[in-house]
Amino acid sequence: MPHMNEHAASYYAATARQAATYPALDQQLHADVCVIGGGLTGVNAALELAEHGLSVVLLEARRIGWGASGRNGGQLIRGIGHEVSGFARHVGQDGVRYLQQAGIESVALVARRIEQYGIDCDLRWGFCELANTPAQFAAFSDEQRNLAELGYRHETRLVGPERIHEIVASDQYAGGLVDMGSGHLHPLDLVQGEARAAQGLGVRLFEQSPVLRIEHGSRVTVHTARGKVHAQSLVLGCNAHLDELEPRLSGKVLPAGSYVMATEPLPEHVAQTLIPQNMALCDQKVGLDYYRLTADRRLLFGGACHYSGRDPKDIGAYMRPKVLKVFPQLADVRLDYQWGGMIGITANRFPQVGRLRQHPNVYYAQGYSGHGLNVTHWTAKLLAEAIATGHSQGLDVFSAVPHLTFPGGKALRSPLLALGMLWYRLREALG
Ligand SMILES: Cc1cc2nc3c(=O)[nH]c(=O)nc-3n(C[C@H](O)[C@H](O)[C@H](O)COP(=O)(O)OP(=O)(O)OC[C@H]3O[C@@H](n4cnc5c(N)ncnc54)[C@H](O)[C@@H]3O)c2cc1C
Repeated sequence: MPHMNEHAASYYAATARQAATYPALDQQLHADVCVIGGGLTGVNAALELAEHGLSVVLLEARRIGWGASGRNGGQLIRGIGHEVSGFARHVGQDGVRYLQQAGIESVALVARRIEQYGIDCDLRWGFCELANTPAQFAAFSDEQRNLAELGYRHETRLVGPERIHEIVASDQYAGGLVDMGSGHLHPLDLVQGEARAAQGLGVRLFEQSPVLRIEHGSRVTVHTARGKVHAQSLVLGCNAHLDELEPRLSGKVLPAGSYVMATEPLPEHVAQTLIPQNMALCDQKVGLDYYRLTADRRLLFGGACHYSGRDPKDIGAYMRPKVLKVFPQLADVRLDYQWGGMIGITANRFPQVGRLRQHPNVYYAQGYSGHGLNVTHWTAKLLAEAIATGHSQGLDVFSAVPHLTFPGGKALRSPLLALGMLWYRLREALG
């Protein structure tokens, strides 16, 4: 697995409400489907498969939610993280429309799951996309119109620079686009709650059970240090942590470190002034700033991407100037938690969903490029549908978008992407 610190100090790990533990696999099991990876992709695939009536074993190398799923910004935002109209030549106009709807429906799917299984994860509605420049603010009108054309049912509203303080107490922004159909939540509580729901439906979950080897065939056998799972089908939900387990897939995803910190709890009047309507906020920069208040009134602030494979030595010292640029009034605030996680970036910033050409009973979903809370739920649904019924039209659309391999293999992936990002940053600085 790529280098990453253990992030013992994650705010989410310290405040998780449903931290059940699951045993390590030490026996031989049979199942219809074996799922590898206990993040949002794997857990939701397992849950959906069980809802379809299939027997499922899920194997997680560390703990449920240990990867990006339990460390992210908690922003539940519509869309697939990329302007999908550019993929028309691969999926056609109907395909583009499907992907746009999936970007909206996937948020509703998360909300339904939370409600259906009674998952306590601090879900709050309200998100504001922030413009760093007047040109970006002007472009928000088009975005709002596009949403209306798609039949978006939730309130959206433009907020000009003169009223932006009603949303966020910062002088950095040229306006915003409010979307009441997106929001924020405690992601570790979400994924652990979903794991508990999956267990309730009969899914057998194992933690501390890294898969070491996969034996392919009409049935797969998956090996851990002390156990084996024999299954008809396999789901790979390892994202940026897949590494050598399936090199044909890991070469298509670049693991990049992203960092988050949480302040001490803020006095109520300070929190109220900072983000008066308790929305999730995200700007437009290349290494974007994203932030929100937690349920216990901390500012949780994330940003930046490192492609070097090395975390900053002191994440707090690295993040503090970014926070103070947006909120200079927080100069004296204490940082209580700081951590990082691995984002799986793809060359076209579009998630990769499909099945292995050489082994069609092996399915995968990965590479959400930093926008996975909603999309993982959708891809998991498609994988389960394909496995349970033999076909999923949605999966066909997703997998028609090419899954590009980073040139130069593992050794060159990071330097090339770092160069590419430098170019974007330069353009941003000049433009
Ligand atoms: C810092 C950060 C902030 C983010 N913020 C947001 C946000 O605000 N909104 C948003 O929508 N998205 C955000 N994302 C992206 C989102 O978190 C991810 O897209 C999503 O969690 C991916 O889920 P996953 O299950 O595919 O991968 P992961 O959660 O990374 O799970 C993969 C799991 O596979 C396991 N695994 C790997 N190899 C093996 C093996 N051999 N055997 C067994 N298990 C194995 C790992 O231990 C890991 O638990 C953020 C990501 C990061 C890192």
